[in-house]
Amino acid sequence: MNVNKSFTGISRRHFLAAAGLTTGAAVLVRRSLFASEDGIVPTMVNAAAKAKITVQPIRRNISVLEGSGGNIAVLTGPDGKLLADAGFAVSRPAISNALASINSDPIRHLINTHWHTDHTDGNTWLHSVGAAITAHENTRKRLAVDTRVEGWDYTFPAVPKGALPTTVFATGHEMRRNNTRIVLKYYLPAHTDSDISVTFTDADVVHVGDTWWNGVYPFIDYSTGGSIDGQIRAAEANLASVTASMIVIPGHGPVGGRAELTEFRDMLVTIRQNVAALKKQGRSLADTIAAKPTAAFDAKWGNFLITPAAFTGLVYMGV
Ligand SMILES: [Zn+2]
Ligand SMILES: [Zn+2]
Repeated sequence: MNVNKSFTGISRRHFLAAAGLTTGAAVLVRRSLFASEDGIVPTMVNAAAKAKITVQPIRRNISVLEGSGGNIAVLTGPDGKLLADAGFAVSRPAISNALASINSDPIRHLINTHWHTDHTDGNTWLHSVGAAITAHENTRKRLAVDTRVEGWDYTFPAVPKGALPTTVFATGHEMRRNNTRIVLKYYLPAHTDSDISVTFTDADVVHVGDTWWNGVYPFIDYSTGGSIDGQIRAAEANLASVTASMIVIPGHGPVGGRAELTEFRDMLVTIRQNVAALKKQGRSLADTIAAKPTAAFDAKWGNFLITPAAFTGLVYMGV
């Protein structure tokens, strides 16, 4: 991928100032959000470069590829492979091998669940081998220009033309591929302002993108329209539409279903309440983090990119 190195203290300070944080809190958030020297984005790319891509058959002609950024759903059949999400470009050889291990169907279609690089960085190569790209209109809008994500301390350059979605929509879109009805639905602003669900109706499978992180604290991208309240609204929307028989593919973490989605929603709601109560008492972010409002959840949810302190900071920003 194209790396724009702008890891300066100044940009971090701007983020923290924009978040209304004190200097003490700023140091704490910096330590937690930017745990690695390189920052979150290079950490994700490096992990993808080394990762083995696993192929998990889900139901009927649908599989999930895990290991390069967000989870990738693959629908096979006579119309060629359709992918929901693209992973990182650095994983092209591993993803190509994984796709070839399913069958020899050519790659014909790609859907992006939202604009983030761990779901769209592979757009260029997938388009170059024949994929037409469909996404929400805000995914195209964000990818078409340089876009800064303060929470990642990173500016993504505009993508090449071939990586841009050519079919976009505002609220909903339907397509039929490989004898399967595919329903795309916009969430309204949630994790970003470009999140959609991808439902494979006939197989009773849905990819919900980064509106669900199964078993790990989510990143929330305030820079491009996300918020804790939007993330909770999307979790509620998922619970309203997902039935007990449905298989649900999260943006990150293992495939699951209604029970795990419910746990995620409850975690978000409880931590939001805890953090909001502390902030209402006038506590600074540093004091709020010190009060450990996520403590009951940390053993299960706090072991991935977003640490308990970082997640507390992301919730604090939005309450
Ligand atoms: Zn993601
Ligand atoms: Zn994301």
